[in-house]
Amino acid sequence: MKKGYVYLVGAGPGDIRLLTVKGEQCLESADVVLYDRLVNPLLLEKTKPGAELVYCGKLPDRHLLRQEAINDLLVKYALEGKQVVRLKGGDPSVYGRVGEEAAELDKFNIDYEIVPGITASIGASTYAGVPVTHRDHGASFAIVSGHDKSPEGQPLIDWEGLAKGIDTIAFYMGVKNLPYICEQLLKNGRKKETPVLLVQWGTLGKQKTLKGTLETIAQLVKEQKFSNPAITIVGEVAKLRQTQSWFERQPLFGKHVLFARTSEGKSEIAEELTRLGADVFEYPRFQTKNLDKSQLDLTKYDQIIFHSPKSVEWFFNQLKQDRIDIRTIKSNFFGASKKSIQTIESFACNGLSLKQLREGSKLVIGPLKWGELVDKRNSLYGQHDFVASHKEELVVQSNFTCQRILDEDRVDTIVFPSAESVKAVTEQIKACNETPETLSQRATIICFGPATQEVALSYGYEIHAILEEPSQQSLIEELLKL
Ligand code: SAH
Repeated sequence: MKKGYVYLVGAGPGDIRLLTVKGEQCLESADVVLYDRLVNPLLLEKTKPGAELVYCGKLPDRHLLRQEAINDLLVKYALEGKQVVRLKGGDPSVYGRVGEEAAELDKFNIDYEIVPGITASIGASTYAGVPVTHRDHGASFAIVSGHDKSPEGQPLIDWEGLAKGIDTIAFYMGVKNLPYICEQLLKNGRKKETPVLLVQWGTLGKQKTLKGTLETIAQLVKEQKFSNPAITIVGEVAKLRQTQSWFERQPLFGKHVLFARTSEGKSEIAEELTRLGADVFEYPRFQTKNLDKSQLDLTKYDQIIFHSPKSVEWFFNQLKQDRIDIRTIKSNFFGASKKSIQTIESFACNGLSLKQLREGSKLVIGPLKWGELVDKRNSLYGQHDFVASHKEELVVQSNFTCQRILDEDRVDTIVFPSAESVKAVTEQIKACNETPETLSQRATIICFGPATQEVALSYGYEIHAILEEPSQQSLIEELLKL
C-alpha cells in the first residue's frame, strides 16, 4: 500500500499571500487538510477538488477537537496512505504544538516534513508599521506566551530577566492577562511610558490596532473591548507606529468583497482589488473539464467563433491531436471577448471581433452551458453549428470556505459581474443557510449593468449600486465611495 505522508504547515498570520511557496504546493497536492481556527479559510481554496477538509477548531457542538484526537486523525489518514496537511496559523513551531504532533508521527514511523510560516508577531507588527527590531530602538526580540499552565492561569515567566534583558517583547494569547503582564513588567523595572501596541487580526482586512503605554494599555483594552486574536508588542519600537501603517493606507483596505464568478480561474478585476488592499473571495468555485472531440469537421467552416479562451485552447489542441496543419484551415477566427481574441492571437492567428462577422458558414465553439442557450445563439448568429469544448463543474468544497468567511463576518460587499453569476451564487449560498434577502442585509450589492441588476432583483436581492459602465475602474470608484 502507498505510504502516507504528513506536512505540518505554517499558514502564516492571515493574508493568504504570506503562505510560503512550499506550503502552497503542499496544499495543492493534499488529500486531506486538517486546519485550525486561526487559519484564513481562503487558503482552503488552494486545495484540489475533492480534498477532504477537517476543521480542528471549535466544532458546531462547541467542543474543541482535542489535541489527542487531532494526533489520532493525523496518524489514521497517513496510515490510509494519504497525503495529509496539518495547517496551522502562523508558524507551526510557535505555540503550534508541532513538537507533540511530530513525536506522535515518529511513534508510528510516519514520514513528515515541517514547513515554517510567518509567525503572528512578525506579520502583525510589520503590517501595523512596526519593525520588531530597529538599530535605534530595539536590538533584541522575544516571543512570550501570555497565558500558561500555572494553577492561577498566569504565565510562569522569569519576569525580571524579560523586563531587564529584552527590548521588544511579543506576547501571544495575552489579551486576558494584560493587566498582570503590565504589572509584572513595571514591577521589574520597565518604565511606565514604555509604548505598547496591540494588533488584532493582523495582516487581514479587519486588522485593528490599539496603542498605549505599560501604564495605560490595560484600561484602554477594557474600554474598547479589544479581544483575541491579538498580539501585544511591548517596547520602544512600538512608538514607530503612525496613525496608519503602509497596509492600512491601501485604498481598499478594510473592504471585504465577495466577487461572484461563473468559471475557473482568477478574474483580473478581483486581482486588482486585492492589489489595492481589499480582502477578496471569489465564489463559487469551478473546475474546467474538457469535452471529447466533436463529430463535426472543424476545418470546413468560413468563420469560427470562440466563446471562451478555453474554447480556443481546446480547438488548437484538437488540431494537434488530429495532426491538422493550421495552414490548411481557411476559416477566419472570431473572439466573443477581448480575452478570447487575445488567446487566438497567442496561437499566432488573426483574432477578429464579432463586429467583423460576414455572410458564410459559421461554427460556434463555447462552453457547454452556452450551447444550451439555443435561442440566444440563433438570434446572434442565425444559421450556425455549435460545438461544446468544455464544461465548468462546481467544486462544492468551496461552500465550506464561504461558510467560514460568513461566520467570520468577512463579507461586506458582493459584486455580481454578470446575470449568470447571480444564479451561480444564489444556488450555492443556500448551503450556507443564506438567502438573497439575508445577504442583502449583510452586504452592499453591486451589479455590473442593468441586465444583471434585473436578474438580481428577480432573485430577491436588494441592489445598492449598478455600474452603468461596467469596468474595473468604475467598480473601484464605487468601492471607494462606500
Ligand atoms: N502558531 C501561531 C500562534 C498560535 S497561538 C503563530 O506562529 O502565529 C494563537 C495566538 O497567536 C493568538 O492568541 C494571538 O495572540 C496570535 N495570533 C494569531 N494570529 C494572529 C493575527 N492574525 N493577529 C494577531 N495575533 C494573532
